Amino acid sequence: MKSSDRRSIIEGHDLTYEYLHYDDDGNVDASYKALKGVSLDVKEGQFIAILGHNGSGKSTLARQLNALLVPSGGTLFVDGLDTREEKNVGAIRQAAGMVFQNPDNQIIASVVEEDVGFGPENMGVPTKEIWERVRKALKAVGMWEYRESSPNRLSGGQKQRVAIAGVIAMKPKCIVLDEPTAMLDPGGRAEVIRTVRELNRTEGITVILITHYMEEVIHADRVLVMDEGTVVMSGTPREVFSNVRALKEIRLDVPFVTELADRLKERGVPLPDGILTVEELTEELEKIRHGDQNRAS
Ligand code: ADP
Ligand code: MG
Repeated sequence: MKSSDRRSIIEGHDLTYEYLHYDDDGNVDASYKALKGVSLDVKEGQFIAILGHNGSGKSTLARQLNALLVPSGGTLFVDGLDTREEKNVGAIRQAAGMVFQNPDNQIIASVVEEDVGFGPENMGVPTKEIWERVRKALKAVGMWEYRESSPNRLSGGQKQRVAIAGVIAMKPKCIVLDEPTAMLDPGGRAEVIRTVRELNRTEGITVILITHYMEEVIHADRVLVMDEGTVVMSGTPREVFSNVRALKEIRLDVPFVTELADRLKERGVPLPDGILTVEELTEELEKIRHGDQNRAS
């Protein structure tokens, strides 16, 4: 199925958001435009990554997707529901689950399985089904063996996987992860990203991953790059990372291999733009070497 045939799960048009600050009399005495006209269309089952420097508006956008904030201007539909309508809020939060940066702020119960069951219990899911959902969710994130553990004893990556299981147990169509790996060590980061990719591929859950680690976005279907409240670039990871200079101008890096390939290119090595993985670079260098050998013989 072409992605254009699929249903949109998130449709934002010309979204703006202004943070307002009020004085003691309740009058607005300061305001800050954090989103200045963002449009996005996410199809069911896609893996979308959002990159951007600190303060570019990523979290403001993420909070809109869960109706924690409503647009100051423009429109946003999540699973076909207008986020400005109060009556839609419950259904929107169920459709689009959120995972935040700090796992310690998201885990409430003292036993893993209870924590994961907390969301469905609050939704009024019957007890038997809660346990079924908890089992499925913990298996999906590879944390089933830890079901009776105390979350305090888990590593950061494991805690984030429990937080993700808690969201999955609510049966969302989409998960929005706002820098879920920012507080983790490299091992924990890899664990979380692997889990999220797996959920996207096997369960078909739509993923919106906000991150500033370039390596985490190379498998996304599409990357949006934000700067100062707007989307300044969007495309496949290869398209986006072909713009090494433009990314640097907005204080973003590119994956290490992409940077290395770019430097080699500058020195005259005939490599294509947007190399993303070590394998790709190795293959391209091999091709060049074979070409040289053929010419020499
Ligand atoms: P990011 O997640 O990309 O770092 P944010 O969405 O958190 O960016 O913030 C975007 C801009 O909005 C920043 O300049 C930030 O200072 C500002 N901002 C965020 N939250 C508030 C708030 N509660 N009140 C005023 N300004 C805010
Ligand atoms: Mg943020």
